[in-house]
Amino acid sequence: MIPERFGYVAPTDLAGCVAALAEGGRVLAGGTWVLPEMGRGESAPAQLVDLRRAGLGGVTATGGGLRIGAMCTYAELLDSDAVAAHAPLLRTMADQITGGWALRNQATVGGSAVAARPQSDVPAALVASAAVARIAGPAGERELPVAELFAGAMRSALGPGEVLAGFDVPSAAGTGHGYVKLKRGWSSWPIATAAALVRLDAAGACTAATLVLGAVSAVPVPVDLSALTGQVLDTDAVRAAADTAAAAVVQPWGDVLAPPSYRAAVAGPVARRALSAALSSALSDAREESR
Ligand SMILES: Cc1cc2nc3c(=O)[nH]c(=O)nc-3n(C[C@H](O)[C@H](O)[C@H](O)COP(=O)(O)OP(=O)(O)OC[C@H]3O[C@@H](n4cnc5c(N)ncnc54)[C@H](O)[C@@H]3O)c2cc1C
Repeated sequence: MIPERFGYVAPTDLAGCVAALAEGGRVLAGGTWVLPEMGRGESAPAQLVDLRRAGLGGVTATGGGLRIGAMCTYAELLDSDAVAAHAPLLRTMADQITGGWALRNQATVGGSAVAARPQSDVPAALVASAAVARIAGPAGERELPVAELFAGAMRSALGPGEVLAGFDVPSAAGTGHGYVKLKRGWSSWPIATAAALVRLDAAGACTAATLVLGAVSAVPVPVDLSALTGQVLDTDAVRAAADTAAAAVVQPWGDVLAPPSYRAAVAGPVARRALSAALSSALSDAREESR
């Protein structure tokens, strides 16, 4: 039960949401964070601005990729052929979200991004996907590379009265992907995640490699893998890249699940598994193409 009284509005477009927020209150997306917080008395907004009728859900294929609405749920990511074709990393990430179908049908990608919890799956996967956040607020609309949306632990870069409208994600078709996370049990929060993308040329040499670590730091940690470009990626190259990833974790995150030292220690192995998976996926795509 929610102990405090509050107002409720559900505007039918984005401008209406921004106008309603100008009156104060808090955005309600899937409510899987907001409502338990209100129930515990940790948050008592004067009104909730519900985004459910504002047309911010779903996934649309654009010329060069995807437009993902802030209200897109994990279930919608999993159900979308466009996501499978253009952002399979996000699909694999969504497939590993716990909480069962009730949670997958209710929790939104935008809600996870704005909540900006270090342990969440969404932030690092969006950063690895080179997503651009679309934001609307009292001063109009703006775009932000998604890495800049994560301002700190539980802190997004949204200003007062701003609403996250969604993300533009460039197509990763033809790119191998890997998503690996380490956690205590199936239903527990991640201790470390790694999202990797590898693109190979016809000769099997790497033309681009992306790796972003999640849950090991307050915000996602992108790893510079430019040294891999031009190389045929063997075990030694992947191992060296994982060492680079481990070294990139300069301020490891700690919580009740794992202290900073443990997260720092597992970052390299998790990175290696994700890169290996991305390489296998790229090689398997190349074999399919050559048939
Ligand atoms: C049982 C369970 C299992 C879970 N398992 C996982 C898991 O395996 N991995 C994982 O990463 N997470 C997991 N989660 C967390 C879940 O992913 C998040 O709770 C969810 O994505 C948040 O989205 P929401 O739509 O419910 O957000 P809400 O609770 O509605 O909102 C979250 C916050 O973001 C703000 N907000 C939301 N949308 C917007 C917007 N568009 N613009 C501006 N502000 C906005 C809200 O005001 C609030 O502050 C789990 C949660 C539960 C309850």
